[in-house]
Amino acid sequence: MWDQAALERHLAALGLTAGDHVLMRASLRRLGAVAGNRADMLIDATLRVIGPTGTLAVLAFHPVVPFPGLRRGLAPVASDDPPSSGGLAVAVAARPQARRSAHPACGWAAIGAGAQALLDGHDGDVSCFHPIAALAGMGGKLVNVGNVTDSPGFSTVHYIQDQLGLSRRNLLAGRIGLRTASGLYHLQDFPGCSQGFGRLYGAYVEAGILRAGPVGDSYAIAAAARDLMAVERPLLRADPTAPLCRDPRCMHCRGLVTYNKRDWPRFWAGWAWRKLTGRR
Ligand SMILES: [Zn+2]
Repeated sequence: MWDQAALERHLAALGLTAGDHVLMRASLRRLGAVAGNRADMLIDATLRVIGPTGTLAVLAFHPVVPFPGLRRGLAPVASDDPPSSGGLAVAVAARPQARRSAHPACGWAAIGAGAQALLDGHDGDVSCFHPIAALAGMGGKLVNVGNVTDSPGFSTVHYIQDQLGLSRRNLLAGRIGLRTASGLYHLQDFPGCSQGFGRLYGAYVEAGILRAGPVGDSYAIAAAARDLMAVERPLLRADPTAPLCRDPRCMHCRGLVTYNKRDWPRFWAGWAWRKLTGRR
């Protein structure tokens, strides 16, 4: 049974320290047995380690649907509704001191001294992962707790994809979104599948930028945003398909991104065959 002090020690061993600005993602169940609520204990342990001058941020996303489903009678989503991006995001967003950014679909939530600097300007006119630039500028870090295989890789990859124009080279960009109180919102950049982001782990290790260790029962990794992007940018520039997943049936990676048209014929033939025959 892990208590908060143990989680604090584990987070400190990952390199977290007072004044750190952190984007955290987590698979809470992988923490194992903790003496209390897993999300709250992880949040409290992190806030204790980074202290009052640090910042804890999470991805507080809302579900998006593709056109034409978008036009049907979807209930409007408010930017301060509980996010759908996991238990840690829900718990951070629910804290009274949390700030939320104004992006209708891909908002972030943050607690701490740098929350405003991180979230300012993140509205529907900018890309989903826009705050990564501020995080890197603040010397921030990314920490993945237990989601190394469940939801692999770092969110900096999505930011680099956007920077290189890849998030718009996607058949769903501009055709996917949600309903807000003021009408339909269409994502112009569609980050898409991240299941292949773990393919970059080796490059991070070779660059010597990754810290790894336990947090509770989970396997956790951490790195500085700037260091991650310095590794990712040249890799994605040389080969935009580097972070695509290996699932032959992944519609995003095999059938939607226009920088991987080589896989389209096989993917769409298989998709049509499964639709026609009802086979899986
Ligand atoms: Zn994929």
